[in-house]
Amino acid sequence: MATEHVFTVDVEDYFQVYAFEGVVDRSAWDGYPSRVARNTDVILDLLARHNARGTFFTLGWVADRHPEIVRKIADAGHEIASHGWWHRKITSLTPAQFREDAHASRAILEQVSGHPVVGYRAPSFSITPGNEWAFDVLLETGYRYDSSLFPINRSNYGYPTTPPLPHLIHRTAGDLMEFPLTTTRFLGKRIPAAGGGYLRHFPYSIIRKAFREKDHSGIPGVFYIHPWEIDEDQPRMPVPWLTTVRHYRNISKVLPRLERLLGEFKFTSIAQRLAGDGKWFRATSPLPDVSPQAVARG
Ligand SMILES: [Zn+2]
Repeated sequence: MATEHVFTVDVEDYFQVYAFEGVVDRSAWDGYPSRVARNTDVILDLLARHNARGTFFTLGWVADRHPEIVRKIADAGHEIASHGWWHRKITSLTPAQFREDAHASRAILEQVSGHPVVGYRAPSFSITPGNEWAFDVLLETGYRYDSSLFPINRSNYGYPTTPPLPHLIHRTAGDLMEFPLTTTRFLGKRIPAAGGGYLRHFPYSIIRKAFREKDHSGIPGVFYIHPWEIDEDQPRMPVPWLTTVRHYRNISKVLPRLERLLGEFKFTSIAQRLAGDGKWFRATSPLPDVSPQAVARG
């Protein structure tokens, strides 16, 4: 039987991406025409047609301004998780600032969706070596799993030494489950194959190779995409040439590639994956109880 992989969406608007931080101030976010509801609808429709579910790491800011988006995602049977409130990198925050952001985003997402929120993904995969205190903050603020680690070596993100499979992170505050972003090996090197910009800029065959390997291993791959990545009509930002290429190149190819990926592989949410027997979760400790009752107990 084919392995059920994990489909994740980082729910943020086109003007909230990191690459635009220099030209879009957070205080100006309310002034931009929002496209996140429309774009999220396209992804919800895509998943429904393929009978797939996903985990939607949503900004607290988006839940505050557009609660109907969160309700629609949850009503369609997908999992709501947190992408922070202000889309600030962990590397730019103190533990106290991160605690506030992680707590506030979880609270509003639970309030709006009516479901427990136990998952977190850092903006720009910004839990990097030296910032492990973020795991403690996540445990303290009620999260049970993280999906922020990218087992690659990049100048601005990546945690090259993390195991490239779901695993437990042991901290004094408890155990946090980690779902690293999918990678594969190419010419002897580990390369990213998790979606997002890599779905746009790399040949589709690399992503397919990675998920086929996961199919054979029985361990889920973790795929990610942003709502703005399927939006050819988003307003263009005045950014340098390289950022323009990185952000807008091949956007027209994303939907056809997603159709193909969802046709070739089975996808579900992290919550659904954890609700199974957990045998696939290769860890040295038993799988922590993430049932809503256990989460409510803290
Ligand atoms: Zn993001």
